[in-house]
Amino acid sequence: MPNARGGENETCTFCGKGRYKVQSLISGPPGVNICNECIEICNTILVEENRKQALAATDTSAITQEAIPAPAQIKAYLDEYVIGQDNAKRVLSVAVHNHYKRLFYQSSTETRDDIELEKSNVLLIGPTGSGKTLLARTLARFLDVPFAIGDATSLTEAGYVGEDVENLLLKLLQAADFNLERAQRGIVFIDEIDKVGRTNQNVSITRDVSGEGVQQALLKMLEGTVANVPPQGGRKHPEQQYIALDTTNILFVCGGTFVGLESIIGRRIGRTMIGFSDEDLEDAIQVPTDEGERNADLLRQANVDDLVHYGMIPELLGRLPVTSVLDPLDEDDLVQVMTTPKNAIIKQFQKFFEMENGRLAFSSEALLEIARIAMQRKTGVRALRSILEEFLVDTLYGLPDSGPNREYLITAPMIRGDKPVRPRRAKRKKKVTKKKPA
Ligand code: ADP
Repeated sequence: MPNARGGENETCTFCGKGRYKVQSLISGPPGVNICNECIEICNTILVEENRKQALAATDTSAITQEAIPAPAQIKAYLDEYVIGQDNAKRVLSVAVHNHYKRLFYQSSTETRDDIELEKSNVLLIGPTGSGKTLLARTLARFLDVPFAIGDATSLTEAGYVGEDVENLLLKLLQAADFNLERAQRGIVFIDEIDKVGRTNQNVSITRDVSGEGVQQALLKMLEGTVANVPPQGGRKHPEQQYIALDTTNILFVCGGTFVGLESIIGRRIGRTMIGFSDEDLEDAIQVPTDEGERNADLLRQANVDDLVHYGMIPELLGRLPVTSVLDPLDEDDLVQVMTTPKNAIIKQFQKFFEMENGRLAFSSEALLEIARIAMQRKTGVRALRSILEEFLVDTLYGLPDSGPNREYLITAPMIRGDKPVRPRRAKRKKKVTKKKPA
């Protein structure tokens, strides 16, 4: 076993420096020693080798300029799954289009010149359940790239920041079935990025600044680094074999609700916010108030300074050059969410009924009633499924025994519980018999 107690006259086997010329000298088998300086040099060599290996695994040659999807094509796909959020869809579509152009440019020796194309990681600001995760996930599906979701708040809790950040990349590797090349072109969605903000712009020693450490760790990953990912996750062990993963071509989408950001913007543009004085501004940032009442108009005017004031470090924001604000979903949007997307929840339930030769339909008032109930619950759009599950459980229970050709038309009083759900036999289509001329 190596130890740090080399003899008085021993020298480093690599550089020849004596025991007292270096900080520490580690001994191996008799007569073999290495000093701390040589260890550092070896480490640099290994990191560089890892980087080269990782870059070699990034096969960007497959990308052709014609194959890069146009922004309109990307948006059209997003439209099939995500309701509203037009601006966010446009912004994301352009960001992704440029991301691909950048990959193509890097791999192409013909078009490449001195211009460095920087990555367009994206920051999505919007209330919970407005579709931030859904947008990133849908994008990944369209692009057929691996996708991983992480929560920035979990990084704070773990304490060992670097470790957790790499675990985020491990999720991406897992989503890519450990295909390094695919993982290195994937999309990572980091939720709750606002929760790792510094608690105050003027950091003082009495304040919790742990969030800043997390932001620094994320910064490295966002700007592009070769991360050593532990294949089993968890803490790093010196003897563990790592997978060197280059994050240069990974697209990072960060999401956050940024509750309280409006008051910062409002103060900047000199608008007086009802119920918000300058004095309690700091409190408002630390103790997020009700998310329901967001002022989307104000939020859309957010700039980098506002976000810095909120607690994000400027360097991290510099790595998130594309920003978009998502609107809160209203009742009409919720009706759309239930019925319109390709995999809309109502369509899913209708499928269950069809499989039993039944038919399920909702009146428009019934759908609006469900949307209203969901809005009353704090979880909004996320409540839709549970409301429908609860409502349909008895009907689904009896469905297999209810006989074929049953039709269920759900009305608003049924949703409210004022009327029971009763099936009726589907009307047979009348046979059209030609009348014989008299
Ligand atoms: P966020 O990340 O903004 O908190 P999510 O994207 O996780 O919200 O949304 C939760 C669920 O709500 C999604 O899986 C989806 O079913 C539904 N949803 C939210 N927003 C939309 C939207 N704009 N269009 C369609 N479905 C949506």
